[in-house]
Amino acid sequence: MLNTLRGQMTLTILAVLLLTVALIGCFSYWYITHTFENYISRQGRERSESIVVDLENRYETASGGWSADFLHMLGMYSLYDGYILRVTDVGGKVIWDAENHDMALCGQIMGEISARMGDKSGGFEKHNYKIMYDGQLVGAASITYYGPFFYTENDYLFIKTLNGATIVISLLSVVLAFIVGNLLARRISGPVTSTANAAGQIAHGNYNVAFENTSNIQELKEMVSAVTELVISLREQENLRKRLTSDVAHELRTPLAAVASHLEAMIDGVWEPTPDRLESCREEVVRIASLVKDLQQLARIDSENLKLDKTGTDLRELTQSVARTFEAVSVKKDLSVSVDGTSSVVRADKDRLSQVITNLISNAIKYTPEHGSISATITDTENAGIIKICDNGIGIAPEELPFIFERFYRTDKSRDRKTGGAGVGLTIAKSIVEAHGGTIDVSSKLGAGSQFVVTLPKV
Ligand code: ADP
Repeated sequence: MLNTLRGQMTLTILAVLLLTVALIGCFSYWYITHTFENYISRQGRERSESIVVDLENRYETASGGWSADFLHMLGMYSLYDGYILRVTDVGGKVIWDAENHDMALCGQIMGEISARMGDKSGGFEKHNYKIMYDGQLVGAASITYYGPFFYTENDYLFIKTLNGATIVISLLSVVLAFIVGNLLARRISGPVTSTANAAGQIAHGNYNVAFENTSNIQELKEMVSAVTELVISLREQENLRKRLTSDVAHELRTPLAAVASHLEAMIDGVWEPTPDRLESCREEVVRIASLVKDLQQLARIDSENLKLDKTGTDLRELTQSVARTFEAVSVKKDLSVSVDGTSSVVRADKDRLSQVITNLISNAIKYTPEHGSISATITDTENAGIIKICDNGIGIAPEELPFIFERFYRTDKSRDRKTGGAGVGLTIAKSIVEAHGGTIDVSSKLGAGSQFVVTLPKV
């Protein structure tokens, strides 16, 4: 539990919050106590001064002293508040002394205060004041109280409640920190754990894992969608691999079976090995060889991740030179093959691009009946070079158009014909064009002809 992401996060959040709570707790405790102590010690000074002021105000000139009742009342009130009063007249004669008056009470009050103050350093101190009346010295007062400050019963209760509240708040904060930390950690670790589980399943070949992107944290969302894309692409690759193997097997089985049955018939003497029959076998073998060549090319394109050796390439020159290689075939079929348009220079891998043009012109020638015409037109725009290859051949049915760039796809019409290839020429062309950052589009009308447009960016 502790070495999981959730555990670690909970602990970290808890530690940070604990530290914060402790720091805030200590600081507020120190600050409040300090301020309160200052206040209390000021109070103490003011209280003892106010006793002296009371004495000065209640001085009776007629009798040259204070009424006994007043002194008793002031002395006892002060004593209950923790101030032990002793008043002497000008001659130094004691006229009121709390300790003499009620020694036991004094001792009890002093004991209570000392107990309340506990381990706070301090002790009872005597403070002497002169009592003045009309600018004349009329006596002296000595007030003994616990210094530098002391708590009264109420003060003590207040500070005790405050400390209690601080401890309760700190404890509550710790509990809250644990809950919040745990929830937060769960929110973050949830998607990470489910993605890790999904990745584990993918590693075991289960590409059908489905996991939801429930987090609203940007980075986690990106991680989950990256893994989702990875799954999709792996699933596609896996499907492609399976389909490719079965397609290849299927493509090879038919011509091999034909050759095998022809040869068997000839070996068994059922068929005479006439030049025509041998020629038909040779054609099948040639078909297999060309299929293997196509497959090799496809494999190379797939495995190399198409490394391009780009140089400035004039599309018109390249198309013309490719078209020339088809002269013999086009003459044989009485096809007119023309290359027109302007010159357009793009940065491209010459060999790969010539493969694209070869595949397109070869298709046009294959799928155009005798006496037809094929034209290649080059257009130059500011950002791209465009090669358009048109023929007036058999055309492609609209429902088949979306599939012609797929591996091993051949239209029904071309399947009937002996001229058709394995159905990978356009796949190869598309891969090469896309590796250049370009596009390849087709438009066609059944029975009227087809038009392939290759657009290549200049940079
Ligand atoms: P193939 O080697 O069979 O020509 P491609 O991948 O080059 O394979 O083409 C796929 C299919 O698209 C062909 O089998 C054919 O049915 C169709 N096709 C391609 N080019 C043309 C065209 N110019 N005219 C008619 N059909 C075409």
